[in-house]
Amino acid sequence: MTASIAYFSAEFGIDASIPIYSGGLGVLAGDHLKAASDLELPLSGVGILYRKGYFRQVVGEDGVQRHLYPEIDRTGQMEQVTDNEGRPLLVKVPIANRLVYLKAWRLQVGRIPLYLLDADVEANEETDRRLTDNLYAGDRHIRICQEIILGIGGVRLLHKLGVKPAVWHMNEGHSAFLTLERIREHSASGLSFHTALEAVKASTVFTTHTPVPAGHDQFDMQMMDHYLGDFYWQLGADRDTILALGRVGDSFNMTRLAMKTASVVNGVSALHEDVTKALFHHWLPYIPKQDIAVASVTNGVHIDTWLSPELKKLFSRYLSADWSGRTFEPAAWSGIRDIPSGELWERHQQAKERLLEGLLPDHEPSAKETLLIGFARRFATYKRALLIFMDLDRLDKIVNDPKRPVSFIFAGKAHPADDPGQQMIRRIVEISQMERFKGRIRFVENYDMGSAKLLVQGVDVWLNTPVKPMEASGTSGQKAALNGVLNCSVLDGWWSEGYNGRNGWAIQGAAEGSLERQAEEDSEALYRLLEEEIAPLYYRRDAHSVPLEWVNKMKESICTLAPRFNTHRMVREYSNRIYSPTEERGNRFTANGYEIAGKVAAYKRFIREQWQHVRVHSMHTHSSQGTRIGLTETFFQVHVYLGPIWEQDVRVEAVGSDGDGGIWKVKLKAVAELGKGLFRYEGTFRDQNDAMLHATANVRVFPVSSDFNNDFEMELTTWG
Ligand SMILES: *Cc1c(COP(=O)(O)O)cnc(C)c1O
Repeated sequence: MTASIAYFSAEFGIDASIPIYSGGLGVLAGDHLKAASDLELPLSGVGILYRKGYFRQVVGEDGVQRHLYPEIDRTGQMEQVTDNEGRPLLVKVPIANRLVYLKAWRLQVGRIPLYLLDADVEANEETDRRLTDNLYAGDRHIRICQEIILGIGGVRLLHKLGVKPAVWHMNEGHSAFLTLERIREHSASGLSFHTALEAVKASTVFTTHTPVPAGHDQFDMQMMDHYLGDFYWQLGADRDTILALGRVGDSFNMTRLAMKTASVVNGVSALHEDVTKALFHHWLPYIPKQDIAVASVTNGVHIDTWLSPELKKLFSRYLSADWSGRTFEPAAWSGIRDIPSGELWERHQQAKERLLEGLLPDHEPSAKETLLIGFARRFATYKRALLIFMDLDRLDKIVNDPKRPVSFIFAGKAHPADDPGQQMIRRIVEISQMERFKGRIRFVENYDMGSAKLLVQGVDVWLNTPVKPMEASGTSGQKAALNGVLNCSVLDGWWSEGYNGRNGWAIQGAAEGSLERQAEEDSEALYRLLEEEIAPLYYRRDAHSVPLEWVNKMKESICTLAPRFNTHRMVREYSNRIYSPTEERGNRFTANGYEIAGKVAAYKRFIREQWQHVRVHSMHTHSSQGTRIGLTETFFQVHVYLGPIWEQDVRVEAVGSDGDGGIWKVKLKAVAELGKGLFRYEGTFRDQNDAMLHATANVRVFPVSSDFNNDFEMELTTWG
């Protein structure tokens, strides 16, 4: 791969000293850049410099979360982007009938430049200068302005710098306006809207992170008109055509826009791929969810950022010299099994001591010998920080067991507008002050990348209790696993791929039912794990008081999880499976004066205009037992009217349920033209299964083209 990739994200977690991230999304973006640097991938990051970042959290004795917004200290961290003459480089973006100026900062992440846009420019009105003060400020108006700044401003900045990305990667939908700006550019150079759209789409990829509709960024149409009304026409299409790109009901949905303007969409774990398909299926109910084109690249973490210095030293002694360049190969990690258990334990204890000194300076001397369980993440309701507190008496017995005591450390921010989240923090602080939980339950304030490092390196067990399937991936558990910290988690997100029965614990309560019932069963499962497995294993020691079996589990955790759930593996996957084919596709679409883009646009227009004629007229099925025992053959014969559409431009399929949550399909062949545009299609489905299943089969017709990236690119299907 030689041409460059532009990676857009509303947040980046590069370092605790630059708080322009709120949680996993940003840390993932930061780790993506670091891995791209290690792998020498030609990538540029684009984000926003929030002058006051995400908030600094202060939590007092009363458990009330307070929000401080100290100005970020840029000194030595980043430099202002200038033009050839050394003057600050400025770009303008259209916001509500006016132009807002942006300057930019360059933050070097290894080899990778990260460009951060900043509206605090003198030429702007005072209110505009404040637009980029805070990340996720909560106000819808500021939000749409920031997304215009990121998407439109980001494209303008890169082009002004002479950066010509071959692939545009949108990390979550916040940056999706970038596709509109790129359409505008093509349009300004004379391309038609639809040809421009095809060219842009061919070179764009979209990673979605949100498993619930409520998490999608959306704006009502009046807001779109207000902020972008004088921008629409510049794209060479009318208002309705532009708004249709993101329309879901009465709103303009950024996930929908991103999905419609990218040629590859991916989720961030195998499970999340399925969840995303189901979610998109609500928008496209006539396409079975199995057929909706969503890929997945499971998230990872940047090893050099998250591995404790203690283990780094140890690994460099026991693993081969080129280990850090081969982290995605399981074989590179096999030497972990040869580390003497006492030594691995000793290093882990040192990391634990660093955590205790750093975050709990008033801890009891025995804290280092007490099983310590960490729970740190954003206090979003679905993460269920309070699950462990369902039965306080039972928890009391667990933490105060005289032979096998257990302590918990909690950390995390709730969004300033999230009252239920803040309520959870208050409750934890309240419980931590109860006599029976003093010193056993602790809350530490201001969870950030700094305290995250101490926590994922120094606790013994990493607890994760989301409502399945709300955790798209989760990455903090991957950081823990890498450090030999054992995961105890609901089988959601990455853990449903990572857990192998030996490398940690799975909280297996109720997969379905009401939230109350799930919480009851999940907490019961969690208590049992703590009582019957985790605490006993931790306190089972050898003559040198090393928990040998525990350390074996630590090794199992590192060997089986670290090679897979790291960003070297992840970015290589993006590069091989997504960036390279997208670069190729983008080039193909634009070559020879946008020949293919123009052709695809014209083809789609023709199909769309004529599709109303397509009908499935009659269907006959006939099932029979085949010659082999249990083999059923079902013969399909249908008449399909295609009107002026050529028979080669459609596919006709019989589709049915396999009775097990999946579907089967059989391609039918045109065997005769019965009249103008009317065809007879036939085909046979052979299966071992029950013939009754085939009775529910339906026939569908949809347009195809070798230039499409997937079968349902046009989102068109006619069912019989
Ligand atoms: C890694 C990390 C996260 C992401 O954690 P999840 O597992 O997705 O909850 C959030 N915040 C910080 C500070 C992190 O370092």
